[in-house]
Amino acid sequence: MPVARRDYERFIKASRHNPCPVCGKPDWCGFNSYICSCMRISEGAFKHVILSNGQVAHLHWLEPGRVTFERNREEIIPVAGAELAPIEVRDRVYRSFLRLLYLYPRHQEDLHRRGLDDKEIKRNGYKSVPENEPPWVICRRLINNNGHNLEGIPGFYLAKSQHDGYYWTFDPSPGYFIPIRDSQGRIQALQRRMDDTSNGKYKLFSGHVNKGGCSCGTPAHVARPEEIKDPRVWITEGPLKADIAAAYLDALVIGVAGATSWKPALYVVEELAAKEVVIAYDMDQKSNEAVATAKRMLAAKLKGMGIVVREAVWEARCKNEKGIDDALMVGLEVRVV
Ligand SMILES: [Zn+2]
Repeated sequence: MPVARRDYERFIKASRHNPCPVCGKPDWCGFNSYICSCMRISEGAFKHVILSNGQVAHLHWLEPGRVTFERNREEIIPVAGAELAPIEVRDRVYRSFLRLLYLYPRHQEDLHRRGLDDKEIKRNGYKSVPENEPPWVICRRLINNNGHNLEGIPGFYLAKSQHDGYYWTFDPSPGYFIPIRDSQGRIQALQRRMDDTSNGKYKLFSGHVNKGGCSCGTPAHVARPEEIKDPRVWITEGPLKADIAAAYLDALVIGVAGATSWKPALYVVEELAAKEVVIAYDMDQKSNEAVATAKRMLAAKLKGMGIVVREAVWEARCKNEKGIDDALMVGLEVRVV
């Protein structure tokens, strides 16, 4: 069976129908068409991986065509990339993680510039990617002092130790973390505002699937103001923009991970039992076909759910006023049509 993206081919659990191709036993091990993670036989393995529970998985290459198995019986196991941990677990780990970090003055200033005051900055929980301590020291603290398991928590992954075995770490590229919360305020993922914007301003804290990490997908953030005065639910692009808009609008604002990743927003709208939604995408949508199409599809889906859909418009005088957050901060008149 030809596999285009070999790195991401899922593992199946060894079973009576599909025994382990290395040890021949019907349990404990896992494999796909070209790699086997055998728990019993280390001889001939190209790599030995210590799992979070302390067990050692022996990775063996399989010759092409050696293994055939019934695809519909496949069961996913967290060997290549971990499975996403439940939201309660992610929330607990991310809260502990952020408590260990600080917000550096340059990042606080950036948030002031974006229109947030100290109280909102504290309430929303932004923290800088640590520069005073190596990432693995912080991971060790989360595991040893706080008793957390980092498997299945997006952003954390395993690195090989110089001596033996593996340790947990994360990407220490400078910037600050923006918590991505669900409709109940739980932290489901983290976004990063990067200091070095040459590869994009924002990056999700996620991935490294081939190193035991896992992906957070494209979660929608729910920004909750201190007091809700506007019963409508707003939808904009990006979690930080949503936080800023929520502070100015005194409304719940959903921040989608990207203009085209609007689907998760539908679930949130449903959870919030919103009756009226205001779409406040960037005003450059006229020049951006993909964004305009995404907005039309989002509006159509919402209408299909029986929700009143409106759009926020404002007269941007320059490209710095294309986002709802900028428009609100400089005091432009935002109309809902
Ligand atoms: Zn085996």
